[in-house]
Amino acid sequence: MRTSLLIDGDLVDGGAGGFDTINPATEEVLGQVADGDVDDMDRAIAAARTAFDDTDWSRDTALRVHCLRQLRDALVDEIEHLRSITVAEVGAPVALTYGGQLQMPVDGLGYIADLAESYEWTTDLGMAAPFGKPTRRTVVREPCGVVGAVTPWNFPHQINFAKLGPALAAGNTVVLKPAPDTPWCAAEIGRIIKDRTDFPAGVVNIVTSSDHRIGAQLTEDPRVDLVSFTGSTATGRVVMAAASQTVKKVFLELGGKSAYIVLDDADLPAACAAAAAGVAMHAGQGCAFTTRLLVPRAHYDEAVATASAAMSGIGCGDPADPGTLCGPLISSRQRDRVEGYLTLAIAEGGWFGCGGGRPAGRDRGFYIEPTVIGGLTNEARVAREEIFGPVLVVLAHDGDADAVRLANDSPYGLSGAVVGADQNRVDWVAARLRTGTVNVNGGVWYAADAPFGGYKQSGIGREMGLAGFEEYLETKLLAKGVQ
Ligand code: NAD
Repeated sequence: MRTSLLIDGDLVDGGAGGFDTINPATEEVLGQVADGDVDDMDRAIAAARTAFDDTDWSRDTALRVHCLRQLRDALVDEIEHLRSITVAEVGAPVALTYGGQLQMPVDGLGYIADLAESYEWTTDLGMAAPFGKPTRRTVVREPCGVVGAVTPWNFPHQINFAKLGPALAAGNTVVLKPAPDTPWCAAEIGRIIKDRTDFPAGVVNIVTSSDHRIGAQLTEDPRVDLVSFTGSTATGRVVMAAASQTVKKVFLELGGKSAYIVLDDADLPAACAAAAAGVAMHAGQGCAFTTRLLVPRAHYDEAVATASAAMSGIGCGDPADPGTLCGPLISSRQRDRVEGYLTLAIAEGGWFGCGGGRPAGRDRGFYIEPTVIGGLTNEARVAREEIFGPVLVVLAHDGDADAVRLANDSPYGLSGAVVGADQNRVDWVAARLRTGTVNVNGGVWYAADAPFGGYKQSGIGREMGLAGFEEYLETKLLAKGVQ
């Protein structure tokens, strides 16, 4: 298969030719992708600008709702094709494609269409007489304009649709620049939009590219009104600085180093097993995964042993196998990065409860064994920096307040978890975590109507839910003089 760019309603080749997309479980070339260049991105931005400025798209809510439902239905119709691409290109365990890796984000388009349909676009503030002038005031919510969306490879459908859905529902036009590692997941959405929906030309543009600069172009172009970026905190800083030149609205979903807190009255074995599974999943390539396990100091050794037994039991395997939880990492570059952190863990005085390198007997695929690191404090770099691999660092705490202190002692603030028997203590801890989401005694925060995002260096703004929709709106006040 060879995929195309979607620009101004046409499926076209890339100016820079083509590039390969790779299966990370086998290292084989899956096929080709159109390689967008500077001119392609320029035309995509121009098309989005024209579709916003010169058509009724931004004012026609019924058309937008219709198109989003059509897209959802067409995606459902092609779900098995999309599933096979997602497993092959992302290395996503197939079991996860029935949830956050595919099905739930597709279903989320239905949620966002319903939300746009029922949304109160105007609010009557009533009469007032500022400076003695009788005035009727109305607040109007309007789309921002052209949205530049830049996304990573780890949960491509979740992140692409969490931007496309609300941005389009709100009446914006979009240029999507997906990650070079997972271009098919986005390009196939472009084909489906072109072939199976009534989205007007230029409303959605998708530019795959092997060159990160093509993403940067979106952040610099004055015709783009808002940049919605998900990726690493390092790139997020660059995006924010670039967007400042034209004072764009910037929405950032960045990295994390979230804590899983086990209080001293919790079921320790069950908590450690749950924490291990949460980090082994998709080889740890989740921004909100709880990669620091904070356990009572008196039970530290038992916790490391239990988490290690759970991690070893999970192992890693072929993502196409329905029993696999931990597949490969996305690329050799990412595996090198994770191996660098494993070397660093030992250099910092840590030790492996299990794992610590590549699995024996697998000479193809970018695999790393699920790994538990013990013997370190929260000052260690492997406890502070995002590894983005199946690596759990176990740390000791000295009670509830100390656990809160350690959890919050991080540059990040994306997510967290706390488990314990005494609900009052659990609630006390949860209320003090400086993170955008908290799993409280096993609750699940991921849903189409639930806002998701980070405090501190994990980001700015919220994705999903009503808050995620309103990120893509401007507020206008109409003040009508009354005689
Ligand atoms: P990355 O930051 O390297 O790349 C993300 C995207 O940005 C890619 O499409 C890339 O081409 C593009 N890009 C690179 N340089 C750019 C620039 N200067 N200007 C504009 N775009 C540029 O991230 P990654 O390695 O693809 O993804 C992993 C990271 O994403 C992790 O740090 C992870 O925590 C984060 N992430 C965050 C969330 C969240 O919601 N908070 C979700 C998933 C992933």
